[in-house]
Amino acid sequence: MQNPHSPLDPALLQGVGHRLVDVLTRYLQSAQSGGLPVLPRREPADLAQEWNLPFQADPTPDVQEEFFRLVDAVLHNSNHLHHPGYIGHQIAVPLPLASCLEMVGSLLNNGMAVYEMGQLQTIMEKRVVELLREKVGFGSDSSGILTHGGSLGNLTALLAARQAQSETDAWNSGQDRPLSILVSASGHYSLARAVRIMGWGADGAWPVETTREGALDAKDLYRALSAAQASRRKVVGIVANCCSTATGVFDPLESIADFCEAHSLWLHVDGAHGASLAFSSKHRGKLKGIERAHSVVWDLHKMMGLPALSTAVLFRDKRHSYETFSQDASYLFEGERGETAHFNLGERTIECTKRGMGTTAYGMLTLLGTSWFGEHVDTLLERAQDLAALMDEAPDFELACPPEANIVCFRYFPVGDLSSEDLDQLQRELRQKVIETGEFYIVETELNGSHWLRATVMNPLTRTRDLRRLLQVVRACAYGR
Ligand SMILES: *Cc1c(COP(=O)(O)O)cnc(C)c1O
Repeated sequence: MQNPHSPLDPALLQGVGHRLVDVLTRYLQSAQSGGLPVLPRREPADLAQEWNLPFQADPTPDVQEEFFRLVDAVLHNSNHLHHPGYIGHQIAVPLPLASCLEMVGSLLNNGMAVYEMGQLQTIMEKRVVELLREKVGFGSDSSGILTHGGSLGNLTALLAARQAQSETDAWNSGQDRPLSILVSASGHYSLARAVRIMGWGADGAWPVETTREGALDAKDLYRALSAAQASRRKVVGIVANCCSTATGVFDPLESIADFCEAHSLWLHVDGAHGASLAFSSKHRGKLKGIERAHSVVWDLHKMMGLPALSTAVLFRDKRHSYETFSQDASYLFEGERGETAHFNLGERTIECTKRGMGTTAYGMLTLLGTSWFGEHVDTLLERAQDLAALMDEAPDFELACPPEANIVCFRYFPVGDLSSEDLDQLQRELRQKVIETGEFYIVETELNGSHWLRATVMNPLTRTRDLRRLLQVVRACAYGR
Protein backbone atom coordinates (compact mmCIF):
# COMPACT_ATOMS: atom_id res chain seq x y z
CA MET A 1 0.00 0.00 0.00
CA GLN A 2 1.30 3.41 -0.93
CA ASN A 3 1.77 6.24 1.44
CA PRO A 4 -1.59 8.06 1.32
CA HIS A 5 0.26 11.36 1.21
CA SER A 6 2.22 10.45 -1.89
CA PRO A 7 1.23 12.58 -4.87
CA LEU A 8 1.44 9.37 -6.92
CA ASP A 9 -1.21 7.62 -4.83
CA PRO A 10 -3.91 6.25 -7.21
CA ALA A 11 -6.53 6.99 -4.54
CA LEU A 12 -5.87 10.66 -5.10
CA LEU A 13 -6.81 10.33 -8.77
CA GLN A 14 -9.96 8.48 -7.84
CA GLY A 15 -11.04 11.00 -5.24
CA VAL A 16 -10.34 14.03 -7.36
CA GLY A 17 -11.27 12.48 -10.69
CA HIS A 18 -14.90 11.65 -9.92
CA ARG A 19 -15.55 15.07 -8.50
CA LEU A 20 -13.68 16.75 -11.33
CA VAL A 21 -15.91 15.11 -13.92
CA ASP A 22 -18.95 16.45 -12.07
CA VAL A 23 -17.47 19.93 -11.88
CA LEU A 24 -16.59 19.93 -15.60
CA THR A 25 -19.99 18.55 -16.58
CA ARG A 26 -21.76 21.34 -14.71
CA TYR A 27 -19.37 23.84 -16.26
CA LEU A 28 -20.08 22.53 -19.75
CA GLN A 29 -23.84 22.67 -19.22
CA SER A 30 -23.59 26.20 -17.97
CA ALA A 31 -21.32 27.36 -20.82
CA GLN A 32 -23.44 25.70 -23.48
CA SER A 33 -26.63 27.26 -22.19
CA GLY A 34 -25.03 30.70 -22.20
CA GLY A 35 -25.20 30.88 -18.40
CA LEU A 36 -21.77 32.55 -18.13
CA PRO A 37 -20.26 35.61 -19.75
CA VAL A 38 -18.32 34.30 -22.78
CA LEU A 39 -15.17 36.12 -21.69
CA PRO A 40 -15.27 37.41 -18.12
CA ARG A 41 -12.64 39.98 -18.98
CA ARG A 42 -10.21 41.03 -16.24
CA GLU A 43 -7.31 43.41 -16.42
CA PRO A 44 -4.02 41.51 -16.31
CA ALA A 45 -2.72 43.79 -13.54
CA ASP A 46 -5.74 42.96 -11.34
CA LEU A 47 -5.41 39.23 -11.85
CA ALA A 48 -1.66 39.36 -11.28
CA GLN A 49 -2.31 41.26 -8.05
CA GLU A 50 -4.87 38.71 -6.91
CA TRP A 51 -2.55 35.77 -7.62
CA ASN A 52 0.67 37.07 -6.14
CA LEU A 53 1.13 34.85 -3.07
CA PRO A 54 4.65 33.44 -2.79
CA PHE A 55 5.14 29.73 -3.49
CA GLN A 56 5.41 27.72 -0.26
CA ALA A 57 7.94 25.03 0.50
CA ASP A 58 5.32 22.87 2.23
CA PRO A 59 2.25 21.24 0.69
CA THR A 60 -1.12 22.83 1.04
CA PRO A 61 -3.01 21.35 4.08
CA ASP A 62 -5.98 20.06 2.12
CA VAL A 63 -4.90 19.03 -1.36
CA GLN A 64 -8.37 18.15 -2.61
CA GLU A 65 -9.98 21.39 -1.51
CA GLU A 66 -7.14 23.44 -2.92
CA PHE A 67 -7.30 21.48 -6.17
CA PHE A 68 -10.95 22.42 -6.68
CA ARG A 69 -10.35 26.00 -5.65
CA LEU A 70 -7.75 26.23 -8.44
CA VAL A 71 -9.98 24.52 -10.99
CA ASP A 72 -12.84 26.83 -10.10
CA ALA A 73 -10.64 29.91 -10.45
CA VAL A 74 -9.35 28.78 -13.84
CA LEU A 75 -12.87 28.03 -15.06
CA HIS A 76 -14.07 31.44 -13.96
CA ASN A 77 -11.22 33.35 -15.52
CA SER A 78 -11.14 31.79 -18.98
CA ASN A 79 -12.73 32.29 -22.35
CA HIS A 80 -15.71 29.95 -22.66
CA LEU A 81 -15.52 28.35 -26.07
CA HIS A 82 -18.59 26.18 -25.56
CA HIS A 83 -20.78 29.27 -25.08
CA PRO A 84 -22.92 29.82 -28.22
CA GLY A 85 -21.68 33.44 -28.26
CA TYR A 86 -18.07 32.33 -28.73
CA ILE A 87 -17.36 33.44 -32.30
CA GLY A 88 -13.81 34.65 -31.87
CA HIS A 89 -10.50 33.03 -32.71
CA GLN A 90 -10.40 30.04 -34.99
CA ILE A 91 -9.71 27.42 -32.37
CA ALA A 92 -11.86 24.33 -31.97
CA VAL A 93 -14.65 24.13 -29.44
CA PRO A 94 -13.32 20.84 -28.15
CA LEU A 95 -15.36 17.68 -28.05
CA PRO A 96 -15.56 16.56 -24.40
CA LEU A 97 -14.65 12.97 -25.24
CA ALA A 98 -11.55 14.23 -27.01
CA SER A 99 -10.54 16.03 -23.83
CA CYS A 100 -11.01 12.75 -21.93
CA LEU A 101 -8.73 10.96 -24.40
CA GLU A 102 -6.16 13.69 -23.82
CA MET A 103 -6.29 12.90 -20.13
CA VAL A 104 -5.48 9.27 -20.84
CA GLY A 105 -2.58 10.39 -23.02
CA SER A 106 -1.24 12.77 -20.43
CA LEU A 107 -1.33 10.14 -17.69
CA LEU A 108 0.59 7.71 -19.89
CA ASN A 109 2.98 10.44 -21.06
CA ASN A 110 4.52 8.23 -23.71
CA GLY A 111 6.89 10.54 -25.47
CA MET A 112 6.31 9.48 -29.10
CA ALA A 113 9.87 10.22 -30.29
CA VAL A 114 10.57 6.51 -30.68
CA TYR A 115 8.16 3.70 -31.34
CA GLU A 116 8.76 2.11 -27.95
CA MET A 117 7.54 5.29 -26.27
CA GLY A 118 4.00 5.06 -27.61
CA GLN A 119 3.55 1.85 -29.58
CA LEU A 120 -0.14 1.83 -30.39
CA GLN A 121 -0.21 5.62 -30.31
CA THR A 122 2.35 5.62 -33.13
CA ILE A 123 0.22 3.25 -35.19
CA MET A 124 -2.86 5.38 -34.53
CA GLU A 125 -1.01 8.52 -35.63
CA LYS A 126 -0.01 6.77 -38.83
CA ARG A 127 -3.60 5.71 -39.47
CA VAL A 128 -4.86 9.26 -38.94
CA VAL A 129 -2.20 10.65 -41.28
CA GLU A 130 -3.14 8.00 -43.84
CA LEU A 131 -6.77 9.13 -43.75
CA LEU A 132 -5.83 12.81 -44.05
CA ARG A 133 -3.50 12.06 -46.99
CA GLU A 134 -6.34 10.29 -48.71
CA LYS A 135 -8.69 13.18 -47.99
CA VAL A 136 -6.40 15.73 -49.69
CA GLY A 137 -6.02 13.38 -52.63
CA PHE A 138 -2.41 12.28 -52.08
CA GLY A 139 -1.46 8.81 -53.34
CA SER A 140 0.17 5.85 -51.65
CA ASP A 141 3.63 7.39 -52.08
CA SER A 142 2.76 10.20 -49.71
CA SER A 143 3.54 10.48 -46.03
CA GLY A 144 3.23 12.81 -43.09
CA ILE A 145 3.48 13.31 -39.36
CA LEU A 146 1.61 15.08 -36.60
CA THR A 147 3.21 18.05 -34.91
CA HIS A 148 2.42 20.69 -32.30
CA GLY A 149 0.58 23.32 -34.28
CA GLY A 150 0.39 24.97 -37.66
CA SER A 151 3.29 27.31 -36.95
CA LEU A 152 5.66 24.42 -36.34
CA GLY A 153 4.00 22.60 -39.24
CA ASN A 154 4.74 25.46 -41.64
CA LEU A 155 8.37 25.54 -40.50
CA THR A 156 8.64 21.76 -41.00
CA ALA A 157 7.22 22.00 -44.51
CA LEU A 158 9.45 24.94 -45.46
CA LEU A 159 12.52 23.06 -44.18
CA ALA A 160 11.57 20.25 -46.55
CA ALA A 161 11.08 22.73 -49.39
CA ARG A 162 14.53 24.17 -48.72
CA GLN A 163 16.17 20.76 -48.65
CA ALA A 164 14.50 19.73 -51.90
CA GLN A 165 15.01 22.95 -53.81
CA SER A 166 18.26 24.60 -52.72
CA GLU A 167 21.43 24.03 -54.71
CA THR A 168 23.32 22.87 -51.63
CA ASP A 169 22.58 20.30 -48.93
CA ALA A 170 21.14 23.11 -46.83
CA TRP A 171 20.51 20.98 -43.73
CA ASN A 172 24.18 20.05 -43.39
CA SER A 173 26.14 22.72 -45.21
CA GLY A 174 23.94 25.79 -45.07
CA GLN A 175 23.06 27.90 -48.05
CA ASP A 176 25.39 29.84 -50.28
CA ARG A 177 22.70 32.09 -51.74
CA PRO A 178 19.79 33.94 -50.13
CA LEU A 179 16.59 31.96 -50.53
CA SER A 180 12.97 33.12 -50.70
CA ILE A 181 9.55 31.61 -50.91
CA LEU A 182 6.67 33.60 -52.40
CA VAL A 183 4.05 34.17 -49.74
CA SER A 184 0.66 35.78 -50.10
CA ALA A 185 0.49 39.19 -48.45
CA SER A 186 -2.34 37.71 -46.37
CA GLY A 187 -0.23 34.70 -45.31
CA HIS A 188 -0.06 33.73 -41.66
CA TYR A 189 2.71 35.34 -39.61
CA SER A 190 4.17 31.95 -38.76
CA LEU A 191 5.54 31.92 -42.34
CA ALA A 192 7.41 35.19 -41.81
CA ARG A 193 8.86 33.65 -38.67
CA ALA A 194 9.76 30.35 -40.32
CA VAL A 195 11.89 32.05 -42.99
CA ARG A 196 13.68 34.12 -40.36
CA ILE A 197 14.35 31.01 -38.26
CA MET A 198 15.94 29.47 -41.36
CA GLY A 199 18.13 32.55 -41.71
CA TRP A 200 16.53 33.81 -44.93
CA GLY A 201 15.74 37.20 -43.38
CA ALA A 202 12.64 39.27 -43.97
CA ASP A 203 12.85 38.93 -47.77
CA GLY A 204 12.78 35.18 -47.31
CA ALA A 205 9.00 35.51 -47.35
CA TRP A 206 8.70 37.43 -50.59
CA PRO A 207 5.24 39.01 -50.56
CA VAL A 208 2.76 38.59 -53.38
CA GLU A 209 -0.03 41.14 -53.53
CA THR A 210 -3.55 39.83 -53.10
CA THR A 211 -7.01 40.87 -54.18
CA ARG A 212 -8.90 43.16 -51.78
CA GLU A 213 -10.45 40.04 -50.27
CA GLY A 214 -7.02 38.57 -49.57
CA ALA A 215 -6.67 35.87 -52.24
CA LEU A 216 -3.68 35.34 -54.53
CA ASP A 217 -4.18 35.90 -58.20
CA ALA A 218 -1.99 33.59 -60.27
CA LYS A 219 -1.28 36.36 -62.75
CA ASP A 220 0.62 38.32 -60.07
CA LEU A 221 2.98 35.43 -59.42
CA TYR A 222 5.26 36.03 -62.37
CA ARG A 223 5.88 39.63 -61.36
CA ALA A 224 6.75 38.60 -57.79
CA LEU A 225 9.02 35.79 -59.00
CA SER A 226 10.89 38.13 -61.36
CA ALA A 227 11.26 40.80 -58.67
CA ALA A 228 12.66 38.29 -56.18
CA GLN A 229 15.06 36.91 -58.79
CA ALA A 230 16.15 40.41 -59.79
CA SER A 231 17.15 40.85 -56.14
CA ARG A 232 19.38 37.79 -56.51
CA ARG A 233 17.17 35.56 -54.42
CA LYS A 234 16.78 31.89 -55.29
CA VAL A 235 13.03 31.29 -55.10
CA VAL A 236 12.25 27.80 -53.82
CA GLY A 237 8.47 27.84 -53.98
CA ILE A 238 5.11 29.37 -53.21
CA VAL A 239 2.88 29.21 -50.14
CA ALA A 240 -0.83 29.24 -50.93
CA ASN A 241 -3.49 30.01 -48.34
CA CYS A 242 -6.26 27.60 -47.87
CA CYS A 243 -7.88 29.63 -46.50
CA SER A 244 -6.50 33.02 -45.44
CA THR A 245 -6.56 33.72 -41.72
CA ALA A 246 -8.11 37.20 -41.80
CA THR A 247 -10.96 36.77 -44.28
CA GLY A 248 -11.12 33.02 -44.90
CA VAL A 249 -10.79 33.21 -48.68
CA PHE A 250 -9.24 30.36 -50.67
CA ASP A 251 -6.36 30.81 -53.10
CA PRO A 252 -6.87 29.38 -56.62
CA LEU A 253 -4.77 26.26 -56.12
CA GLU A 254 -5.09 24.89 -59.66
CA SER A 255 -3.60 27.91 -61.36
CA ILE A 256 -0.94 28.30 -58.64
CA ALA A 257 -0.01 24.62 -59.10
CA ASP A 258 0.28 25.21 -62.88
CA PHE A 259 2.63 28.10 -62.21
CA CYS A 260 4.72 26.02 -59.79
CA GLU A 261 5.02 23.22 -62.34
CA ALA A 262 6.04 25.60 -65.10
CA HIS A 263 8.78 27.14 -62.94
CA SER A 264 9.85 24.03 -60.97
CA LEU A 265 8.73 25.52 -57.66
CA TRP A 266 7.63 23.80 -54.46
CA LEU A 267 3.97 24.34 -53.64
CA HIS A 268 3.16 24.48 -49.95
CA VAL A 269 -0.51 24.78 -49.05
CA ASP A 270 -1.14 26.37 -45.66
CA GLY A 271 -4.42 24.62 -44.96
CA ALA A 272 -4.15 25.08 -41.20
CA HIS A 273 -7.68 26.38 -41.07
CA GLY A 274 -9.32 25.28 -44.31
CA ALA A 275 -8.00 21.80 -45.09
CA SER A 276 -10.79 20.33 -42.96
CA LEU A 277 -13.15 21.14 -45.84
CA ALA A 278 -11.74 17.95 -47.38
CA PHE A 279 -14.20 16.06 -45.15
CA SER A 280 -17.18 17.90 -46.62
CA SER A 281 -18.66 16.67 -49.88
CA LYS A 282 -20.40 20.03 -50.18
CA HIS A 283 -17.33 22.23 -49.80
CA ARG A 284 -14.30 20.18 -50.77
CA GLY A 285 -14.36 21.73 -54.25
CA LYS A 286 -12.82 24.86 -52.69
CA LEU A 287 -9.62 22.83 -52.18
CA LYS A 288 -9.37 21.74 -55.81
CA GLY A 289 -5.70 21.49 -56.72
CA ILE A 290 -4.51 20.71 -53.17
CA GLU A 291 -3.62 17.22 -54.38
CA ARG A 292 -0.89 18.83 -56.51
CA ALA A 293 0.84 20.46 -53.50
CA HIS A 294 4.24 19.18 -52.36
CA SER A 295 3.27 19.79 -48.75
CA VAL A 296 0.11 20.62 -46.80
CA VAL A 297 -0.37 21.79 -43.23
CA TRP A 298 -3.68 20.95 -41.57
CA ASP A 299 -4.67 21.93 -38.02
CA LEU A 300 -6.97 19.41 -36.37
CA HIS A 301 -7.54 21.81 -33.47
CA LYS A 302 -9.46 24.22 -35.69
CA MET A 303 -12.40 22.82 -37.66
CA MET A 304 -12.01 19.19 -36.49
CA GLY A 305 -13.17 19.81 -32.93
CA LEU A 306 -9.96 18.52 -31.29
CA PRO A 307 -8.09 20.12 -28.40
CA ALA A 308 -4.92 22.08 -29.18
CA LEU A 309 -2.39 21.33 -30.41
CA SER A 310 -2.79 18.79 -33.16
CA THR A 311 -1.49 19.41 -36.66
CA ALA A 312 -0.74 17.24 -39.66
CA VAL A 313 2.11 17.99 -42.08
CA LEU A 314 1.54 15.99 -45.25
CA PHE A 315 4.02 15.38 -48.08
CA ARG A 316 2.92 14.18 -51.50
CA ASP A 317 6.27 12.43 -51.92
CA LYS A 318 7.15 10.57 -48.74
CA ARG A 319 10.88 11.04 -49.21
CA HIS A 320 10.52 14.68 -48.20
CA SER A 321 9.11 13.66 -44.85
CA TYR A 322 12.25 11.60 -44.14
CA GLU A 323 14.96 13.70 -45.74
CA THR A 324 14.27 16.98 -44.01
CA PHE A 325 16.16 16.29 -40.82
CA SER A 326 18.63 13.74 -42.03
CA GLN A 327 21.39 13.60 -44.56
CA ASP A 328 21.13 9.88 -44.85
CA ALA A 329 17.43 9.25 -44.59
CA SER A 330 17.15 6.27 -46.85
CA TYR A 331 17.39 3.78 -44.00
CA LEU A 332 14.35 5.29 -42.40
CA PHE A 333 11.99 4.28 -45.12
CA GLU A 334 13.59 1.35 -46.82
CA GLY A 335 16.78 0.40 -45.26
CA GLU A 336 19.14 -1.34 -43.13
CA ARG A 337 17.94 -0.58 -39.65
CA GLY A 338 14.84 -2.55 -40.40
CA GLU A 339 11.23 -1.78 -39.95
CA THR A 340 11.22 -0.31 -36.44
CA ALA A 341 13.23 2.77 -37.41
CA HIS A 342 10.48 3.58 -39.84
CA PHE A 343 8.14 3.99 -36.87
CA ASN A 344 10.38 6.32 -34.87
CA LEU A 345 8.40 9.46 -35.58
CA GLY A 346 10.85 11.75 -33.81
CA GLU A 347 13.27 11.41 -36.72
CA ARG A 348 10.85 13.41 -38.83
CA THR A 349 9.71 16.20 -36.51
CA ILE A 350 11.25 19.27 -34.93
CA GLU A 351 10.10 17.94 -31.55
CA CYS A 352 11.71 15.09 -29.73
CA THR A 353 9.02 14.43 -27.10
CA LYS A 354 5.51 15.11 -28.32
CA ARG A 355 2.01 14.44 -27.07
CA GLY A 356 0.12 11.43 -28.34
CA MET A 357 -2.20 13.64 -30.33
CA GLY A 358 -2.86 10.98 -32.96
CA THR A 359 -4.64 8.89 -30.36
CA THR A 360 -7.20 11.59 -29.70
CA ALA A 361 -7.74 12.14 -33.41
CA TYR A 362 -7.96 8.39 -34.10
CA GLY A 363 -10.39 7.94 -31.23
CA MET A 364 -12.74 10.68 -32.34
CA LEU A 365 -12.65 9.66 -36.01
CA THR A 366 -13.55 6.12 -34.96
CA LEU A 367 -16.15 7.00 -32.35
CA LEU A 368 -18.03 9.61 -34.36
CA GLY A 369 -17.38 8.27 -37.86
CA THR A 370 -15.79 10.34 -40.58
CA SER A 371 -19.10 11.78 -41.87
CA TRP A 372 -19.54 13.71 -38.64
CA PHE A 373 -16.51 15.84 -39.49
CA GLY A 374 -17.92 16.76 -42.88
CA GLU A 375 -21.26 17.66 -41.35
CA HIS A 376 -19.50 19.69 -38.68
CA VAL A 377 -17.70 21.74 -41.34
CA ASP A 378 -20.98 22.17 -43.23
CA THR A 379 -22.71 23.47 -40.10
CA LEU A 380 -20.00 26.02 -39.35
CA LEU A 381 -19.93 27.29 -42.93
CA GLU A 382 -23.70 27.47 -43.14
CA ARG A 383 -23.91 29.58 -39.99
CA ALA A 384 -21.31 31.96 -41.38
CA GLN A 385 -23.48 32.30 -44.50
CA ASP A 386 -26.46 33.05 -42.25
CA LEU A 387 -24.52 35.76 -40.44
CA ALA A 388 -23.38 37.28 -43.73
CA ALA A 389 -26.95 37.23 -45.07
CA LEU A 390 -28.24 39.03 -41.97
CA MET A 391 -25.57 41.70 -42.35
CA ASP A 392 -26.09 41.99 -46.06
CA GLU A 393 -29.75 42.82 -45.47
CA ALA A 394 -29.02 45.29 -42.68
CA PRO A 395 -28.41 48.89 -43.84
CA ASP A 396 -26.04 49.60 -40.95
CA PHE A 397 -23.63 46.68 -41.41
CA GLU A 398 -20.99 46.22 -44.06
CA LEU A 399 -19.25 42.97 -45.04
CA ALA A 400 -15.61 42.96 -46.10
CA CYS A 401 -16.36 40.14 -48.54
CA PRO A 402 -18.77 37.25 -48.92
CA PRO A 403 -17.52 34.46 -46.63
CA GLU A 404 -16.03 31.39 -48.29
CA ALA A 405 -15.32 29.59 -45.01
CA ASN A 406 -16.68 30.19 -41.49
CA ILE A 407 -14.99 33.59 -41.10
CA VAL A 408 -17.01 36.81 -41.45
CA CYS A 409 -15.34 40.24 -41.45
CA PHE A 410 -17.76 43.12 -40.95
CA ARG A 411 -18.13 46.71 -39.79
CA TYR A 412 -20.88 48.59 -38.12
CA PHE A 413 -21.63 51.49 -40.43
CA PRO A 414 -24.13 53.94 -38.92
CA VAL A 415 -25.80 56.66 -40.98
CA GLY A 416 -24.07 60.01 -40.95
CA ASP A 417 -20.69 61.30 -41.96
CA LEU A 418 -17.88 59.44 -40.28
CA SER A 419 -14.29 59.84 -41.37
CA SER A 420 -12.44 56.62 -41.96
CA GLU A 421 -10.48 57.21 -38.72
CA ASP A 422 -13.73 57.61 -36.77
CA LEU A 423 -15.12 54.51 -38.39
CA ASP A 424 -12.01 52.53 -37.39
CA GLN A 425 -12.19 53.88 -33.86
CA LEU A 426 -15.86 52.97 -33.66
CA GLN A 427 -15.09 49.33 -34.50
CA ARG A 428 -12.41 49.17 -31.79
CA GLU A 429 -14.78 50.57 -29.18
CA LEU A 430 -17.59 48.31 -30.30
CA ARG A 431 -15.47 45.24 -29.92
CA GLN A 432 -14.66 46.12 -26.31
CA LYS A 433 -18.28 46.92 -25.54
CA VAL A 434 -19.62 43.77 -27.17
CA ILE A 435 -17.21 41.65 -25.10
CA GLU A 436 -18.22 43.52 -21.94
CA THR A 437 -21.86 42.50 -22.46
CA GLY A 438 -20.72 38.91 -21.91
CA GLU A 439 -23.00 37.76 -24.72
CA PHE A 440 -20.38 37.42 -27.46
CA TYR A 441 -16.69 37.13 -28.01
CA ILE A 442 -15.55 38.59 -31.34
CA VAL A 443 -12.13 39.68 -32.58
CA GLU A 444 -10.82 42.34 -34.95
CA THR A 445 -8.49 42.61 -37.93
CA GLU A 446 -6.86 45.09 -40.30
CA LEU A 447 -7.83 44.85 -43.95
CA ASN A 448 -6.60 47.13 -46.73
CA GLY A 449 -5.69 49.79 -44.18
CA SER A 450 -8.93 49.82 -42.21
CA HIS A 451 -10.26 48.19 -39.10
CA TRP A 452 -12.87 45.42 -39.17
CA LEU A 453 -14.66 43.23 -36.71
CA ARG A 454 -14.28 39.53 -37.26
CA ALA A 455 -16.43 36.57 -36.27
CA THR A 456 -15.46 32.94 -36.81
CA VAL A 457 -18.22 30.43 -36.22
CA MET A 458 -16.46 27.56 -34.46
CA ASN A 459 -19.28 26.35 -32.26
CA PRO A 460 -21.96 24.12 -33.80
CA LEU A 461 -24.21 25.20 -30.92
CA THR A 462 -24.23 28.79 -32.21
CA ARG A 463 -27.69 29.12 -33.76
CA THR A 464 -28.85 31.56 -36.40
CA ARG A 465 -30.88 33.33 -33.76
CA ASP A 466 -27.76 33.88 -31.68
CA LEU A 467 -26.22 35.54 -34.71
CA ARG A 468 -29.31 37.70 -35.20
CA ARG A 469 -28.86 38.77 -31.60
CA LEU A 470 -25.24 39.78 -32.38
CA LEU A 471 -26.53 42.51 -34.70
CA GLN A 472 -28.81 43.81 -31.95
CA VAL A 473 -26.01 43.77 -29.40
CA VAL A 474 -23.64 45.66 -31.72
CA ARG A 475 -26.33 48.28 -32.36
CA ALA A 476 -27.12 48.64 -28.67
CA CYS A 477 -23.42 49.08 -27.93
CA ALA A 478 -23.20 51.77 -30.65
CA TYR A 479 -26.17 53.70 -29.24
CA GLY A 480 -24.99 53.38 -25.68
CA ARG A 481 -21.55 54.82 -26.39
C1 LIG B 1 -4.05 29.13 -37.40
C2 LIG B 1 -3.20 29.25 -38.60
C3 LIG B 1 -1.82 29.02 -38.54
C4 LIG B 1 -1.10 28.78 -37.23
O1 LIG B 1 -1.45 27.58 -36.65
P1 LIG B 1 -1.19 27.34 -35.07
O2 LIG B 1 -1.72 25.96 -34.90
O3 LIG B 1 -1.97 28.38 -34.35
O4 LIG B 1 0.26 27.44 -34.82
C5 LIG B 1 -1.10 29.05 -39.71
N1 LIG B 1 -1.70 29.32 -40.88
C6 LIG B 1 -3.02 29.57 -40.98
C7 LIG B 1 -3.62 29.85 -42.32
C8 LIG B 1 -3.82 29.54 -39.84
O5 LIG B 1 -5.14 29.79 -39.94
